[in-house]
Amino acid sequence: MSDPKEKTEGTPSGYYEAPQSEQVDTAQERAYLPGIFKGIGVASKHFFRNFFLGRDPNVDILARKGGNMMTTVQYPEEKPIYPPGYRGMHRLVPREDGKPRCVACYLCATICPAQCIYIEAGEYPDDPIEKFPVRFEIDELRCVVCGLCVEACPKDAIRMDTGTHCKPVYDRQDIVYGIDRLLKGTAVAHESDVWFKRDSSDPPPDDAVHPIPPLPIAK
Ligand code: SF4
Ligand code: SF4
Repeated sequence: MSDPKEKTEGTPSGYYEAPQSEQVDTAQERAYLPGIFKGIGVASKHFFRNFFLGRDPNVDILARKGGNMMTTVQYPEEKPIYPPGYRGMHRLVPREDGKPRCVACYLCATICPAQCIYIEAGEYPDDPIEKFPVRFEIDELRCVVCGLCVEACPKDAIRMDTGTHCKPVYDRQDIVYGIDRLLKGTAVAHESDVWFKRDSSDPPPDDAVHPIPPLPIAK
């Protein structure tokens, strides 16, 4: 970088001098009126073009043709086509018997960077092993649609495959989705599902051989 105090040859002061504008405002420019009328003319031209000329309903704004230059998508009459990779809102995946596949392990709530998943776990009265979510809520307004909850879930119990987005609401609380709104869609079953492997829901006997012996307790 050159030193600003460095002398420049060929200038009266010997230092660099920025070029000065030769333009002098005329009385017409200082009156502002021509500029005001010019601006009104441009705005009117666009207004009447958009008001009277037909509008290409193509939702792809850049591909629109015609005299109307409006670029607003008239949602919900017009809906843009989502890209193929669009995830959509969450759903809790049901089992074939209609219960949620979720076993309330809290992994999704733990990994969620927006801290917008709230779970309360419960136990089935006839099954002492399995848990299920008594409450499972997602604050969709806080959600950043990162999909980490889907990745973290060990039971394929939460998916973002609905292809829908959040509907506008008037009440903040209406955007918190509970099980009643999340549990929907096609039921999913995997061969590895433990509820297919167990013969009964009875607790294991006390003398059952555990694959991993308990660690000694430090005293
Ligand atoms: S998509 Fe991301 S931000 Fe939204 S609930 Fe899942 S983990 Fe949280
Ligand atoms: S990670 Fe899956 S199984 Fe665990 S609480 Fe979340 S949705 Fe339920």
